[in-house]
Amino acid sequence: MSRKGILTVVSGFSGAGKGTLMKALLKKYDYELSISATTRAPREGEVHGREYFFLTRDDFESMIESRKLIEWAEYVGNYYGTPKEYVEQQLEAGKDVILEIEIQGALKVKEIFPEALLLFITPPNITELKSRLVGRGTETMETIKKRLDRASEEASYMEYYDYIIVNDDLNECVETTHQVIVNEHNKVSQNKNFIEAITAELKAMKEGEI
Ligand code: ADP
Ligand code: 5GP
Repeated sequence: MSRKGILTVVSGFSGAGKGTLMKALLKKYDYELSISATTRAPREGEVHGREYFFLTRDDFESMIESRKLIEWAEYVGNYYGTPKEYVEQQLEAGKDVILEIEIQGALKVKEIFPEALLLFITPPNITELKSRLVGRGTETMETIKKRLDRASEEASYMEYYDYIIVNDDLNECVETTHQVIVNEHNKVSQNKNFIEAITAELKAMKEGEI
C-alpha cells in the first residue's frame, strides 16, 4: 500500500530553537527538510544550499514571478520562501516533509495543503527566549529587539496551529515532535487507501474468493 507523506510546518518565535530542533530531529529520524530561499545574509557557518539558498532581492523576486515558490513572506526586512519543486516531489514519493517557516507562510501553506500539520515550537518562557537569542550571538541588539517585537505579533496566531510543543529539554522536544508526526499517520483521513483495501478484502472473503 502506498504511504502518503505528511507535510509538517514548524514555526515559532525567533530563538525558540527551531533550527536546533530540526538538526537533532533529522539526525535521529528520517524526514526531508525543505531548504528555503532567503535574501538575508548568511550567518557564520551557514552554507548556501544547506541552511538556505541565499539569494539577491532580484533573484528572489524572479522566483516569485516565475511561481517557483509555494509561499513567501517578508520577515524583519528580508524575503523568505519555500521552493515548490522539492516539496512536491518528496510528498509524491511518500516522504514526510518538514517546512520550518514563519507564521504568514505557515497559514498560506495550510490554505494550499489543508491536511498539513502545523506545529508551534515555543521556549518555556520569554525570559528564556531572550537569553537564547542573545546567547546565540548572531544578531545585533537592534535586530533582537525587532525579532522580539515580531514574537508579540506572532503569539496571537498560535491558536491556528494544531500543536504547541515546548522546547525546554531538547531531547524530549525531539521525541514529542516525532511522536506527533507518527500519530498523524494514524489519522483516519490519512488512511483512506487502507480502509478501502480492508473493505475490499472483507467483501472478497464474504463472496468466497479468498
Ligand atoms: P531558532 O531557529 O528558533 O531561531 P535556534 O535553533 O537558533 O533558534 O536556537 C536559538 C539558541 O537557543 C541557540 O543558541 C541554541 O543553541 C539555543 N537552544 C536551542 N534549543 C535549546 C534548548 N532546548 N535548551 C537550551 N538552549 C537551546
Ligand atoms: P532566520 O533568519 O532566523 O533563519 O529565520 C527567520 C524566520 O523566517 C523564522 O521564523 C523562519 O522560520 C522563517 N523562515 C525560514 N524560511 C522560510 C520560508 O521559506 N518561508 C517563510 N514564510 N518563512 C521562513
